[in-house]
This record gives sequence, structure tokens and C-alpha cells, in this order.
Amino acid sequence: KLVSREFKKDGTVIDVGGVKIGGNKLAIMAGPCAVERLELTVGIAHEVKAAGASILRGGAYKPRTSPYSFQGLGREGLDYLIEARKQTGLPVVSEILDTRDIELFLEKADIIQIGARNMQNFELLKEVGAYDKPVLLKRGLSATIKEFLLSAEYIMSRGNRNVMLCERGIRTFETQYRNTLDLAAIPTLKELSHLPVIVDPSHATGKWNLVAPMSKAAVAAGADGILIEVHSNPECALCDGEESIKPTKFKELMQDMRKIAVAV
Ligand code: PEP
Ligand code: MN
Repeated sequence: KLVSREFKKDGTVIDVGGVKIGGNKLAIMAGPCAVERLELTVGIAHEVKAAGASILRGGAYKPRTSPYSFQGLGREGLDYLIEARKQTGLPVVSEILDTRDIELFLEKADIIQIGARNMQNFELLKEVGAYDKPVLLKRGLSATIKEFLLSAEYIMSRGNRNVMLCERGIRTFETQYRNTLDLAAIPTLKELSHLPVIVDPSHATGKWNLVAPMSKAAVAAGADGILIEVHSNPECALCDGEESIKPTKFKELMQDMRKIAVAV
């Protein structure tokens, strides 16, 4: 299979506007869960950039469990990300929900995210597979490693070789945290596949105080990148404030992760 280590021995390195993902450098993607106001988005972008992040995250289209929750700013949200990119130079990653938005994302995003809920939306996988735009594919809520890799195969078999795998926690019997971070998935995916492995400790735990320890564990386990929700005022965030860390905490965590990345 195209995703397998057998097919390609060297780890894939993806170039996102000059930022390399994979290889021996740790890529940090950070930003709010959802794009909210313009000044807020640009402000957070400047703060995560100053702390050393290399990619800005932000959802413009949000896959919310409840139809009454904030659904995202849509097209306008993507424009706010572009303004943040213009000011900071950070490439942006944002989630696509619908195949009909592909042209929009090809134009406006640097990395297209496929969320956990769409890991097996095969039409969406085939659509993003038809271009060479980098894709961040998240593991489904209850997906096995095999199913996860087969979803990546859907994208790659259409021609797109720029795929990143993102472990973001899975559903288990434990209800103490939002999901259970599958740390063993990191070395396992790296053994089975040549694709870069990114870990999202924010959605994996749902609790801001668990984000730093799980990020450090993920770096020690060999992750190629970390995706973290950062918000300057988490109490007022329109989405996932409880798992978002503040910029000062993020800065501290960046320094700790750098030490671990060098040590392992
Ligand atoms: C997100 O990253 O904003 C998100 C919705 O994550 P997931 O698909 O992992 O739940
Ligand atoms: Mn979120």
C-alpha cells in the first residue's frame, strides 16, 4: 500500500510554504479551536508565532455535536486566517466539512484538515486526494489503526502524497476525560507508515491541564508534530475553551517540548 513503510522506507517530509513537516524537526501547530473575531484570531496568531509555533490552526467550519452550538464563521473565518497569515507568515490549517468547498480550501488554506468525524467520509477523502494540497487526516472517534491507515490510503490512491496522520484520542470506557490519547499509536503508525504523525492532546483529553503532560509524552514517543488549541481568553471561547491553553502556558510548553525533542 502507498501509506506503508514497505512501499517507502524514508519518512515523508511535507513542505508547507517552506515549513517542513516530518523528518527530524518538531512541527507545532497552534491556535484557537474556532476562528472567532478578526482581532482575536490575529492576536493569537502573533502570540503562538512568538512562542515558536510554525503553523496556525483555526476552524472556520465547525463539526459541532449540537446543531445549536456555534457552527463557525465559514468563508469569513478563512479570510481572517489569511489576514493572520499575512501578518505573521504562518501557514494555516483549517477543517473542510463538505466536498463542495474544495475550491475555496485549495485557494485559502495551506493544509486541509479532515476531522475525526469525517475520517470515513470517503467522498471527501477522494476529493482532497485529487490535488497535492497537504492534508491533515484525523483518526476517527472509534477507528482502529488499520481503518485509519486505509482512510489515508483513500487520499493517497487518488494521487495526493502529502498526507499527515493525526492521533486525537479515541473513545474508551473512561469518562474522566473527553477521549483517551492512544500514545502507542505514535510508534505504531511510524512503524507501519512513512507518513508524518501529528498528535492533538487538546481533543484527546478535553482538559487544558492535561494538554502539557500529554504533549510532552507525545514528543517523547516520537510524534513529528503537535496540534494544540490556544486561546487568549479560554473562558469566553466559542468552542472548546475547557481544553484550550493560554499563550503564556503555551510558551512554557514550547520550551519543555523543545528539550524533549532534542533529548529523544
Ligand atoms: C478540531 O481540530 O477542531 C476538531 C474538530 O477535531 P476532531 O475532528 O479531532 O474532533
Ligand atoms: Mn476543538
